[in-house]
Amino acid sequence: MPEIQKDETATGKALPSHAKVVIIGGGVVGCSILFHLAKFGWKDAVLLERSELTSGSSWHAAGQIHTISSDPNISRLQSYTINLYKEIEELSGHSVGLHLTGGFYLASNQTWYDYLKRERSKARYMGLDQEFISPREVAERHPLIDPKHYLAALWDDQDGDLDPSGTTYAFAKAARHYGAQYFTHCGATATVQRADGSWDVTTPKGVINAEHVVNCGGLWAREVGHMAGLHLPVQPMEHHYLITDRIDAVANHGSRLPAGIDYEANIYFRQERQGMLLGTYEPRGTPWKLDGTPWEFGHELLNPDLDRIADRLEMSFERIPAIGAAGIKDVINGPFTFGPDGNPMIGPVPGMRNYWCAVGVMAGFCQGGGVGLTMAEWMIDGEPSIDVWAMDVARFGDWASPDWGTVKSCENYERRFVMTFPNEVLKKGRRQQTTALFDRLVAKGARMGQAFGLEHALWFGDGPDDAWEDPSFGRNRSFDYVAREVAAVRGGVGGIELANFAKHEVRGAGARAWLDGVMAGHLPKPGRMTLTPMLTSKGRLYGDLTVACLAEDHFMLFGSGAMQDAHRRWFEATCPEGVAYANVTGDWHGIGLSGPKSRDLLARICREDVGPEALKFRDTRQSFVGGVPVILNRISFSGELGYEIYCRPQYLLRLSEAIEEAGADLGYRWYGNRALMSMRLEKGWGAWGLEFRPDFNAVESGMDAFINWKKEFVGKSATLAAKEAGPVRRLVTLVIDTDVDVTLDEAILKDGAAVGYISSGGYAHHVGRSMAMGYVESALAAPGTGLEVEILGEMRAAEVQGAALYDPTGARMRA
Ligand SMILES: Cc1cc2nc3c(=O)[nH]c(=O)nc-3n(C[C@H](O)[C@H](O)[C@H](O)COP(=O)(O)OP(=O)(O)OC[C@H]3O[C@@H](n4cnc5c(N)ncnc54)[C@H](O)[C@@H]3O)c2cc1C
Repeated sequence: MPEIQKDETATGKALPSHAKVVIIGGGVVGCSILFHLAKFGWKDAVLLERSELTSGSSWHAAGQIHTISSDPNISRLQSYTINLYKEIEELSGHSVGLHLTGGFYLASNQTWYDYLKRERSKARYMGLDQEFISPREVAERHPLIDPKHYLAALWDDQDGDLDPSGTTYAFAKAARHYGAQYFTHCGATATVQRADGSWDVTTPKGVINAEHVVNCGGLWAREVGHMAGLHLPVQPMEHHYLITDRIDAVANHGSRLPAGIDYEANIYFRQERQGMLLGTYEPRGTPWKLDGTPWEFGHELLNPDLDRIADRLEMSFERIPAIGAAGIKDVINGPFTFGPDGNPMIGPVPGMRNYWCAVGVMAGFCQGGGVGLTMAEWMIDGEPSIDVWAMDVARFGDWASPDWGTVKSCENYERRFVMTFPNEVLKKGRRQQTTALFDRLVAKGARMGQAFGLEHALWFGDGPDDAWEDPSFGRNRSFDYVAREVAAVRGGVGGIELANFAKHEVRGAGARAWLDGVMAGHLPKPGRMTLTPMLTSKGRLYGDLTVACLAEDHFMLFGSGAMQDAHRRWFEATCPEGVAYANVTGDWHGIGLSGPKSRDLLARICREDVGPEALKFRDTRQSFVGGVPVILNRISFSGELGYEIYCRPQYLLRLSEAIEEAGADLGYRWYGNRALMSMRLEKGWGAWGLEFRPDFNAVESGMDAFINWKKEFVGKSATLAAKEAGPVRRLVTLVIDTDVDVTLDEAILKDGAAVGYISSGGYAHHVGRSMAMGYVESALAAPGTGLEVEILGEMRAAEVQGAALYDPTGARMRA
């Protein structure tokens, strides 16, 4: 049974009156952040712990560690975390109890086998050492496992287990080695911001003023957030694992047994002393303390309820019979905090100044080191060294309420070891945000997805009963419907809802000057639009935005909907006095019209001239369409002649009716996001979050074509240096010989060696080819280069494309 350790050296000391950073919470996450800050030079960092260190989830964790994660950069950080343990053990002199036994991920059916093949493909380009082993080898390495249940297993040398409490202490003491301090029995009871942006943190030992505050409250993340008026969508969940009595086969095995995960049985397991530890995620999660975590909780466990995990235990006893035969020594039921998508929520909180959080870290011993590294880089350098979007707190906006957080956290807990297919839309927490067209589009057969909490159409079936699909790795029944939508747009006219694009408004006499420094590209003249990259000071991509100049002192920026709060945070950090910035995404909905007949349709519902001379490609104007006030942009991501028509939400229904009426005899058809993504692929256009993200710079991604080198802008010197050095890798478009399309992160190979990876892809319906985009070594980026892409374990021939396969000169969109 785990126990809480004490540290007298951290109890009686006097609290300083000031610190650069105050970290609230001494679990593994807070201690790792303290360590990394101090190691990288911010020694004036203070951690406050209301009780002993580890008094939340950390002390009763199962201590299993592994590198696999749905997001490659989180995998990288998990690998970093595991590699860090030796270092903190040496620095602190405190044992972390590390056993790097290696571990396997067991595939008991073809679906999980396919999943693991995808994981191995990712591992190839990440340089992680993972290999498939046969069921016979599984049994050789772990004689307790009955191999007949399995097709194969993916083996990872880096997996194993550790002592959770010892690890947390090792982080804290290693932080002290670098000059940081921590105080136990010194809980934060209030956080109040001063006018200068610093925070007064009240504790029983006095008030400490800090430039920055970090919420690492773990089980109390919600309560610590409330102190600053922040309502985080995280939820503690009950979780069981059990420890068996001594098992002779374990005790007599010459070496420590490997760790493992069996997805279908929904279990993880490892050796614990001379017995086994086995944990599981129950099919119906039990959220703990909906109304808040009691302050007096911390050193106790919850009552176990084995009935909840009985079916999973039964399956695991079949697969590892020795566990079933052994007596159960302990059953642990403890709470730990989940976020809505299962990934941590870290970084500066949008809308707040100098307030950071690192919460919802549900695998703190796999991820804590990486979270600490990232937070320290972000705080000290102003940006993390890799793209951490999958963990960025900004991926959830105000719409992610605590209630929604509970629903999604439960779903995520339940699905921890349940397959989520690339084309799968999860069912819970839906309709959190909708537009006026929701019911109308559903009635027409829209299969809806959700992005940034907002429902949007993925594709359209023949009515509501036809809008279904089986999630899969390969093509499914949506394929033909998407093809139909693409044909409608390429051959006539189609419309797509645009609510899920972000809109940012910038006004004021200083607006142009400020934006000119923030954006790397050319700013447009009044009435015109430009596409521009936005870069970090280290030259990483931080946005690809369409800037529309409505007037000399009035700009609208259109960009990634998911990034809207991250961009808001970015803009608010540097917006000068005299310039008014606002994220107005929710204030502007709209419809995109695309296709060769889109101008004819538009002309029918506009009084103003929309002919090719009056409204040119990349023109913008405030106007009326369908009798409602709009911003009308002549632009389209489909690569066709097209228009984006933005209106206030209350006009959207009327606008849609006007379009449908006017378009009836032109063959007007609604289309969804999948058709749009298919069309942009055959144009060779990258998309934010896929091809364009902070992992890449403007030169590698080709976005340097849009840069205005004649001016000063954020990230210029770094980008110039990157240009002069020449890119190590480049974004390319590939045509692949395959009947299973890529999704994301597949390895790209040359002569058997990984030379890059896929950033997105799918079927390009108009040109009739399976296509992808991805980054490869520069020497292999020339058009015509033959490569291979690993799709579900098969090597598929691919060729680098030069000009876009569809309308390479852009004549159609400029028509
Ligand atoms: C049963 C179980 C098994 C698990 N198994 C694993 C596993 O095998 N591998 C793995 O990686 N993860 C595992 N986990 C998850 C892991 O325990 C958590 O991810 C991790 O402990 C989270 O650490 P944390 O620092 O975010 O939060 P916590 O450990 O909850 O720490 C928060 C700390 O903040 C302190 N605090 C709160 N409010 C204040 C305040 N106002 N002032 C000062 N201090 C405050 C608390 O006292 C506490 O010490 C398991 C969890 C459970 C419950």
